[in-house]
Amino acid sequence: MTMDYEAVIGLEVHAQLLTASKMFCGCDADVFAAPPNTHVCPVCLGMPGSLPVINRRAIESTIMTGLALNCQIAEASVFVRKNYSYPDLPKGYQISQYELPLCHDGWLLIEVGGERKRIGIRRAHQEEDTGKLTHVNGHSLVDYNRSGVPLLEIVSEPELRSADEAYAYLTKLRTILRYLGVSTGDMEKGAMRCEPSISVRPTGSTAFGTKVEIKNLNSFRVVKLALEYEIARQIEALRRGEKIAQVTMGWDDARGRTVVQRVKEGSEDYRYFPEPDLPPLEVSREWVAEIAARLPELPDARRDRFMAQHGLSAYDASVLVADREVADYFESVVGAVGGKADAKTVANWFTGELFRLMNETGTTIGQVKVTAEAFAELLELVAGGTVNLNTAKMVFEEMFRTGQGAQEIVAAKGLAQVSDREVLEKMVRATLAAHPTEVASYHGGKTTVLGWLMGQVMRETKGKANPGVVRALLEEELKRKP
Ligand code: ADP
Ligand code: ZN
Ligand code: MG
Repeated sequence: MTMDYEAVIGLEVHAQLLTASKMFCGCDADVFAAPPNTHVCPVCLGMPGSLPVINRRAIESTIMTGLALNCQIAEASVFVRKNYSYPDLPKGYQISQYELPLCHDGWLLIEVGGERKRIGIRRAHQEEDTGKLTHVNGHSLVDYNRSGVPLLEIVSEPELRSADEAYAYLTKLRTILRYLGVSTGDMEKGAMRCEPSISVRPTGSTAFGTKVEIKNLNSFRVVKLALEYEIARQIEALRRGEKIAQVTMGWDDARGRTVVQRVKEGSEDYRYFPEPDLPPLEVSREWVAEIAARLPELPDARRDRFMAQHGLSAYDASVLVADREVADYFESVVGAVGGKADAKTVANWFTGELFRLMNETGTTIGQVKVTAEAFAELLELVAGGTVNLNTAKMVFEEMFRTGQGAQEIVAAKGLAQVSDREVLEKMVRATLAAHPTEVASYHGGKTTVLGWLMGQVMRETKGKANPGVVRALLEEELKRKP
C-alpha cells in the first residue's frame, strides 16, 4: 500500500506600499522608472550619523491592511535591526520588525472549488526594501533607489494545502491591497513578491515535515508552478525513503524546476536587536478607530451586497468585485441606467462584451473609453427597441474603439431598428415570394426553415429589423398562405 501525502504551505508576501516618500527618509518613493541612484540621501544610503524618521503614511497603510486582514493592531511595536551583509544593503542591516510586529493574528477568506476556508495571518509587519543589483559582463552594478522604500510583510500560518489554495490566497490578498489602495500588487513589476514555504506529510498526520523555502517568485504563474513542482518532488523523495533537507531554493523557469540556493539561515544568524535610533511605535486606539472608519467596503462584503442588492449570481458578483475599478464602473453604469435595464443585464454586458473586448485588445479598465452614461444610453436604446441586441453589440464595439456615444453611432450609421410593421410586412412578403421551395418545405413540416427565412429578412434590412416583429409577421404570412 502506498502512503498518501498532503502539502503544507505558508506564504510570506512582501508588498511595496504606495507612499510619497520612503520609509525612513524624505526621498521620493516612486522609483520604478527612475535612473539609477537618483532617489537617494544619506539616510537610505546608510551614511554614518544619519537618522531615520518613521513614515506615518506607511504605518497607516499597514494598520489599514492589518484591519482588513482581521488582525490585532499592537499598541506598541518595535523596530529592529536585521543584520546581514550584502552589497544591496548599504547599512549592513535592514530595519524591520521581529518579536513585536505592528499587526498579528488575523485571517483571510479564500474560496477554492466552491469551498470557503479561513487562512490564518500570523503577522503583518513594517520594514524597508533593499537596493537592487544588476550583473553586467562580470561586474555587479548597484542601484539604491529602492533602498528604504516601505514594505509590508504579511506572513500566513502554514494552513494552505495545495498550489491552488496558495494561488487563491495570493489573488485575494492582492485584491484587498488594491481595494485599500495601499499597493499596486503588481508582481510582474516587483511591487508584490512571494516566498512560499512548503513541506509535505502523510495525510492524517498532525506533525509538520521539514520545510523548504522558495525565494524571489515574480509572477502568479511561477508561484503555482514552483509549488506544484516542489510538492511532487518532496513526496517522491519521501516515498524513496529520503529525508528533506531544510534549504532555500529558487525557481529555474527555463528548466521548470526548483534549485537549491543555500542552506537555510536560522534567525540567530541575523542578530536581531532593537533599532536604537527609533522609539517603540505607539499606536493609540483612537488612531486605529479613525483608520477603521476609513476602511472601504471590502471585496467579500461587496460581493454579498451585489448579490442581495442587484440580484446577481455568486459567480457574476465574484467576477465583478475581483477588481475594484471594474466593480466601481459596474455600479456607475447601473446607476446611470436608473432602472431602465436591470443590473443582471448590465452584468451580462460586462462579463460578455466588455471583458471580451478588453481581453482581445489588452485594454485595462482604466483605459476603457466608454463612459457610464454612454453605456447606459446604449442599454436604453436596446430596452426601448431602437436597436436590436446584435446591432447593439456592434455599436458597443464601436463605442469601445472610439469613445463615441451610442446615439451618435446609431444615427451616423443609420442603425436604428426597423420596427415599422408596414415596411417589414412588405419585405416578408417579398422574401416568401422569392423562396417558394423553402415555403413549401416549411408547410411540409420542416419548421426550422422559419429561422432561415428570418435570416433572409434580417439580411435584407442589414440586421436592423426588429427580430420579434419579423418572426411574428413571418408566422402570420405563412399561416395565411398554405
Ligand atoms: P522561519 O523561522 O524559517 O522564517 P517561520 O516559522 O517564521 O519560519 O515561518 C515562515 C513561513 O513558513 C510561514 O509562512 C509559515 O506559515 C511557514 N511554515 C512554517 N512551518 C512550515 C512547515 N512545516 N511547512 C510549510 N510551511 C511552514
Ligand atoms: Zn533617502
Ligand atoms: Mg520567519
